[in-house]
Amino acid sequence: MLQPLVMCIGEAWRVASLSIDRLDARLLVQHVAGCTHVDLLVRPERALSTDQLARLWVLVKRRSDGEPLAYLVNSAAFYALEFLVTPAVLIPRPETELLVELAIERLQPLKAPRIVDLGTGCGVLAVTLKYLRSAAIVSAVDLSPAALEVARINAARHAVEVNFLAGDWYAPLGGARFDLIVANPPYVEYADPHLQQNGLPFEPLMALSDGISGGDGLACVRAIVVGAAGHLLPDGWLLIEHGYNQAARVRDLLWSAGFSKVASWPDLSKVERVSGGCLY
Ligand code: GLN
Repeated sequence: MLQPLVMCIGEAWRVASLSIDRLDARLLVQHVAGCTHVDLLVRPERALSTDQLARLWVLVKRRSDGEPLAYLVNSAAFYALEFLVTPAVLIPRPETELLVELAIERLQPLKAPRIVDLGTGCGVLAVTLKYLRSAAIVSAVDLSPAALEVARINAARHAVEVNFLAGDWYAPLGGARFDLIVANPPYVEYADPHLQQNGLPFEPLMALSDGISGGDGLACVRAIVVGAAGHLLPDGWLLIEHGYNQAARVRDLLWSAGFSKVASWPDLSKVERVSGGCLY
């Protein structure tokens, strides 16, 4: 599409809205122009430079090709905090906020709880928990060095101290034990057609699926549940996010691993999304 070289932000918003969702169009205009929603409404005649306009059309094209908005603006909100997001990490989902709430409830009686976030990605769980409970001692593990780089930036952005470790689930933790293990691991079945939809092809497959063809998607969940006994302090909790149809199977895994108080909790869509238990 041939575009004029000069345009104001209001007109750019209108034109961008012809090919992508109107809200996405607005957020992309704000991103390239460095302006706010209010600017767009009260000063729509503000000009965009040729450079800004060129960047905008590239982003609009990427969005219309299905790339998630969070990767285009390198940002996503989680628990009212703003996080750097790049294609090296899974985009934080609102349902994962349930895990934060459940974690905070269980940490209440502890003065300086020891927490580990397994498969931290961009760091939302580790950073948010440390932000909310500043006396906590928080570690976070990820297999991807690129993801850990993003997570470190997010910890710095929110001025919290998290001990980031590279490696496979419990491997880099040695004999360390924790009051709470949280995880949002890859759990989408490798054959699930959702992996081809809604922008998921743009996200790192290693953050979405265990990659085992013909499997049930639970290989990582199983590794985390089975390894927990070696890394929980007495009365420690494991809280783990899983797929919409996996709650009963995850509870079975927890019971088999010796957990008590095993339960699942629904997200805002009333889908059982997090399961957990306590090890005495
Ligand atoms: N909830 C994500 C989705 O369905 C998957 C996140 C994950 O695998 N941990 O797209």
